Amino acid sequence: MNQIVLEHVTKSFTTKSLGTVVAVRDFNLSVKKGECFSFLGPSGCGKTTTLRMIAGFEDLSEGSIYLGGRLVSDKRKNIYLPPEKRELGMVFQAFAVWPHLNVYENVAFPLKVKKRPHSEIKKRVALALHHCDLDGLEKVYPSDLSGGQQQRIALARAIVVNPDVMLLDEPLSNLDPHLRESMRFEIKRLQKEFGFTIIFVTHDQAEAMALSDRMLVMDMGNIQQIGTPQELYHKPVNRFVHSFLGQSNFTDVVIRDGKAFLKEDESNLLFSGTSLDLKGDYVMATRPNAIDLNRQDGYKTTILKRTSKTDFMEYLVSVGKGSIMVQTPHRNFFRAGDPCFIKIKDPAWYKPEKKDIEEERERRNTI
Ligand code: ATP
Repeated sequence: MNQIVLEHVTKSFTTKSLGTVVAVRDFNLSVKKGECFSFLGPSGCGKTTTLRMIAGFEDLSEGSIYLGGRLVSDKRKNIYLPPEKRELGMVFQAFAVWPHLNVYENVAFPLKVKKRPHSEIKKRVALALHHCDLDGLEKVYPSDLSGGQQQRIALARAIVVNPDVMLLDEPLSNLDPHLRESMRFEIKRLQKEFGFTIIFVTHDQAEAMALSDRMLVMDMGNIQQIGTPQELYHKPVNRFVHSFLGQSNFTDVVIRDGKAFLKEDESNLLFSGTSLDLKGDYVMATRPNAIDLNRQDGYKTTILKRTSKTDFMEYLVSVGKGSIMVQTPHRNFFRAGDPCFIKIKDPAWYKPEKKDIEEERERRNTI
C-alpha cells in the first residue's frame, strides 16, 4: 500500500527581489508503507518545501497529496488538513527541542496539544523515552544534555504520537560524525519497532545511501531520478545525478566511429568500445574506482599527484589540459611524474548541459 502519494505537486514563491521561483515543479511520487525514502539534492533544490507541504506547513500552488489513502491537500478542491491532523511525527533541523521545557514536558507536548488524558500521556511518554534511551532524564532540561541526547528528545517527541509517517529534515546535521552514525542506527531500529514510513531529507549522500530503501535526487525543483541507492549510483540518468552520488570525473569528448576523443584535441583517443554508438559532443563520466591504472595498456599519460587514503591510493593523472582522478588498491604503486596508462571501464555518456541551466542553479544558490 502507498502511504504517501504526491500528484502533480507544484509550489511557487514570489518575492519582490527575485520574482517567481518554482521551488517544486510537477512532483509525482508514491512512497510505500514502511519504506525509508530519502530526498537528496543541493541547497535550494526544494527538499524542505516538499516536506513542508507533506507536513501541512505549506500550501500547494497546484496538485494533491494523499496520506494513508486520505486526501490531505488539494488545491483545486480547496482541501487542506492542518499538520496536527495528519498523524505525522517530525524531526526538523530548525525544529529543535524547547529549552524552557524539561525532557518529559518536551516529549509530552504533542499529546497535550491533542488533549489526551493525563494517564495516557504519562504512559506513552515513558515508553517513548525508554525507546530513545532517555529513561531517568524526565526532569532534566535540554541545555544540560549532549547534542545526541537532545536529538533523541526530538525523536522521542516524534514517536510519542505513534505516527504512520515520520518526516526527518536534516535531523543529524548538528551532530558529530560518530553520533550521526549511531543516530542513523537508532532511527532504523525505531522504524523496525514502530513500522512507520520515513521521509528523510538530507544533503549527505552517504547518509541517504545508508538509510534508504529508495531515494530521489532533485535539482531546482525537479525530480531527476527515483530508485534504490544502487540504481542511482550505478545507473544515473544524467550528469547531475552522477555527480551527486559518489565521486565522478567528467571529461568533454567528441565521439565518432565508436571512439571518444578529447574535445580539446581530437587526435587524442581516450576510449573506444564496440558498444559506443553515439556521435558528436558528449561528456564522458567515470568513477575514480572504475579506472584501471597500469604500465602498458590504454591511454598513455603521467601521474600528477598521489595521495594515500585509508583503503586505497588516489592518483590524479593528466588528461589534456585537465586531469582525471583514479583510485586503486595500494599494490598499484606509482609516483608523481611517472608515466602510466589508464583504461577506462564502462563510462557513462551525457549530453553537455545547457548554459542557462547552470546559470539558474547559480542564481538559486545565491538566494
Ligand atoms: P536546503 O537544503 O538549503 O534546506 P532545500 O532543498 O530544502 O534547501 P527549499 O528550502 O525547499 O530548498 O527551497 C527551494 C527554493 O524555494 C529556494 O530557491 C528557496 O529560496 C525558495 N523558498 C523556500 N521557501 C521560501 C519562502 N518562504 N519564500 C520565498 N522563497 C522560498
